[in-house]
Amino acid sequence: WSVAVTGNLDDCACDVETIDSFNNDQLFPKLQALLESDYFRFYKVTLNKPCPFWTSSSHCGLRDCAVKPCSPVICVCVQYSAEANEQQEECEKTNHLGAVDVSLSEETREALLDWSKYDDEAQRFCVVDDEDSPDSQYVDLLLNPERFTGYKGPEAWQIWNSIYEENCFKPYTVKRPLNPNSFPSSSGGEGQCVEKRAFYRLISGLHASINIHLSARYLLQDSWFQKKWGHNISEFKVRFDSELTAGEGPKRLRNLYFLYLIELRALAKALPFFQQHGIRLYTGRPEEDQKHKELLLEILQLAKSFPLHFDETSLFAGDEKEAAKLREDIRLSFLNISRIMDCVDCFKCRLWGKLQTQGLGTALKILFSERQIKALPVSSDHRPSFQLNRQEIVSLLNAFGRISTSIRELKNFRSLLAEDW
Ligand code: FAD
Repeated sequence: WSVAVTGNLDDCACDVETIDSFNNDQLFPKLQALLESDYFRFYKVTLNKPCPFWTSSSHCGLRDCAVKPCSPVICVCVQYSAEANEQQEECEKTNHLGAVDVSLSEETREALLDWSKYDDEAQRFCVVDDEDSPDSQYVDLLLNPERFTGYKGPEAWQIWNSIYEENCFKPYTVKRPLNPNSFPSSSGGEGQCVEKRAFYRLISGLHASINIHLSARYLLQDSWFQKKWGHNISEFKVRFDSELTAGEGPKRLRNLYFLYLIELRALAKALPFFQQHGIRLYTGRPEEDQKHKELLLEILQLAKSFPLHFDETSLFAGDEKEAAKLREDIRLSFLNISRIMDCVDCFKCRLWGKLQTQGLGTALKILFSERQIKALPVSSDHRPSFQLNRQEIVSLLNAFGRISTSIRELKNFRSLLAEDW
């Protein structure tokens, strides 16, 4: 099959096969278990922010683009109540905290309050939604899996186009009307510095991951009584086969592996923060919280044990002033990309787009804060200069979960393509 990616990745000492076996055999199963926990499945997000860059011409009416909402109260009510059914009914009658508050136990109310207090301590890097806004809502990620939605055409291209053209240091222009064939080569700009090339590859890797997910959870059958989701081999081939993409597909998959390495490295670097800061995965149920905290630490230790980590010291290694300017350029581009996510018409795509850019932004924040992490105070009496809030932690792990799942899906597609052959 001509979708194969093998061997060493550019700009690092790691190879695809080492990542495959590390991810698929060791990390992926543990990560899946963690992401199903209550702490990680609820993500707070504002989905109805207006697009700051252009007036959206279409309002996505696609059924599979809808996001099933979940107020924290509904989620928490269900999880805390001894009489789940009665409580659930009560919770579903309302959408806002105040009205349901009376139906909550003292313990639950305290949990919610504590949770938001904990969030407020944060120091921010990426554009994050105002969590106190009445428009901000908790979404149950397990109820809203990333999969095929049918979002495509000029609206989707406009997003990808403005990401690549305006924010990825790409030396190319796209003529109107938007033409997908005018998108750049997937190796990044030739002759660019390693940092800008790396940035481009991260975005391309994210794009590849989204397109793997929609091919792996494609709507195969849609009738009034049944919907069937599963792998669509031809969709995958159209996007990643070397012959069908003039050689670009495998390069995009290599960018996915590169993104994996960067996020893995960030997890490894964040280990001291989680160890020293006495992090609480607060849901109000101490036994479960402790179990998931141990699982999180196990995952971070595993990430640290990976033998062929990307060496980020090769980035921003030149002249100090120039390196600082370059870092700021990259930070601003990334902020812009996170704003563009509010222009995605399909809400389900917007949800996962926002989560994944925030997760990657958090990974970059960790990689660029090595000094602050090393200087973390041992005693919890001092306020540390490096912090991660709940939203950042949830997005970091879930975004990495998406990339890890994509790598695992490549294995599934390899088997399916071999059978197909
Ligand atoms: P597109 O994927 O739209 O790509 C446009 C052009 O970019 C291609 O023609 C190619 O030249 C270039 N390109 C493609 N892949 C790469 C890459 N990896 N690196 C560099 N260049 C590349 N659809 C869903 O069904 N479910 C989702 O959850 C979903 N989430 C999305 C999230 C966001 C933020 C966006 C912008 C889109 C999302 N989409 C989703 C839409 C999906 O990504 C595609 O845009 C859509 O399926 C149309 O695909 P296409 O074949 O026209 O090419």
